[in-house]
Amino acid sequence: MKSIYSKFVLATIAIIFTSTILGFFISNTYYHQLVKPLNDEKNVSVAKNLASYIESQGNIEIEPYLHSAASTGYQIYIVNASGSEQYFGAEFKRQNLPREAVGSVLEGEIYHGMREFPMETFVTGFFANELRNTVGIPFSYENEQYALFMRPDIKLLFSEIHVLMGWMILIMFVVSVILVLIASKFLVKPITKLTSATKDIQDGKFDIKLDISRQDEIGVLARSFEEMSLRLSQLDQMRTEFVSNVSHDFQSPLLNIQGYAHLLAKENLLPDEKAQYIQVIHQETNRLSLLTKQLLLLTSLEKEDYYFNTAPFNLGNQLKELVQMYLWQLDEKGITITYNLPNVVCEGDPTLLYNVWENLLTNAIKYNKENGEIEIGVHDELHFIKVIIKDTGIGMTAEETERIFDRFYRADPSRSREVDGTGLGLSIVDRIIKLHKGTISVKTQPDKGTEFIVTLPRKQRDGSRASNKS
Ligand code: ADP
Repeated sequence: MKSIYSKFVLATIAIIFTSTILGFFISNTYYHQLVKPLNDEKNVSVAKNLASYIESQGNIEIEPYLHSAASTGYQIYIVNASGSEQYFGAEFKRQNLPREAVGSVLEGEIYHGMREFPMETFVTGFFANELRNTVGIPFSYENEQYALFMRPDIKLLFSEIHVLMGWMILIMFVVSVILVLIASKFLVKPITKLTSATKDIQDGKFDIKLDISRQDEIGVLARSFEEMSLRLSQLDQMRTEFVSNVSHDFQSPLLNIQGYAHLLAKENLLPDEKAQYIQVIHQETNRLSLLTKQLLLLTSLEKEDYYFNTAPFNLGNQLKELVQMYLWQLDEKGITITYNLPNVVCEGDPTLLYNVWENLLTNAIKYNKENGEIEIGVHDELHFIKVIIKDTGIGMTAEETERIFDRFYRADPSRSREVDGTGLGLSIVDRIIKLHKGTISVKTQPDKGTEFIVTLPRKQRDGSRASNKS
């Protein structure tokens, strides 16, 4: 597998090559379409100047004059009607001037060899040191007709520029390749870091610090990656805690059952003792059964695609039925309950919401004091319905309140152990309220009491589906 680094370097070098070749083709077209005719015109005008000077100075020595003209950077060839020819300046590599060209110039025409030079030689046509790649003009000297063909001596005129340009292109290429190598390393480095971080996560190491402070897309990716690894580490920790809590919460009732079953097996037990042991076993099996039910409910509620049925129902009636169910318990503890439960129609899953009120009411009973009070109220607001369950119980500290929705959390074990509980009730409540797009808040003071305030939107979306993003 090729690394992203080598791929990037290869791609950039390929781009440099392609753009060089493209640039060559474009400049070639530019040369043939625009530069070549202009160049031809320019040289015709130089040649005309030479000829008109010769013609105007009747008695001029033609040879030294053309020699000195050639030395300024031209290759010149002259031929007269009787066929005598002479060359000035650097030698032509190929003396391939067509006969007709000489004839037509001697007859007074202008020869545009540079303009007509074939296309297939590309831009290098400009440099082709050939006699046909010239311009030709006629002139007369000492009553004889001459044809003068000339072209710029490229070697003389352009050699330094040529070399300079060559070096420039070579240096540009080398520098670009070096810079591409450095830039690619810089670009790819965070990706390499991310790859090794992914491997760390695979190995169960979640404590990842990437040390990438860039502000671009890779920086954003790195930060999201760090957040993700933090979340994964929290989830991993939660999972470990969850497993240990579940094991512990199952273990202690099982041990109790085992112990009391052992005691029951003894002979000569008093009927009272027997009844007491059976009651403990009964309580512990109830506890195990509740724990299993709550765990199953919580796990199913936490599924991403949990689907629940919403329907309109009378919330006031539901709460009244609940209070009826618990009257004997309230009585037993001497708790006074007052309620204001008007007929308010609420939309939601009645079974799930019953679970919510039951949890809140049983907590208000469990964590209340002897002869305490409970107040339940339903308030019909414009867009939502508010349910308040208030008790005059033991209350909670601020630190305890922060954690009550965590799974298995039970505030102050010494107090909580006196009453039955699993620490799962409020996690279930919280999840159900979130599924209904509602909110739950707590006002509490140690020894004074607690107030749970639940708000639910009046209408639920159709075919409500769970979303774990809450
Ligand atoms: P549990 O099964 O222990 O009642 P919950 O999840 O229902 O579990 O509640 C979590 C903890 O929050 C409880 O153990 C208790 O310490 C505290 N709590 C809940 N409701 C009340 C309340 N009304 N008054 C005082 N403490 C409460």
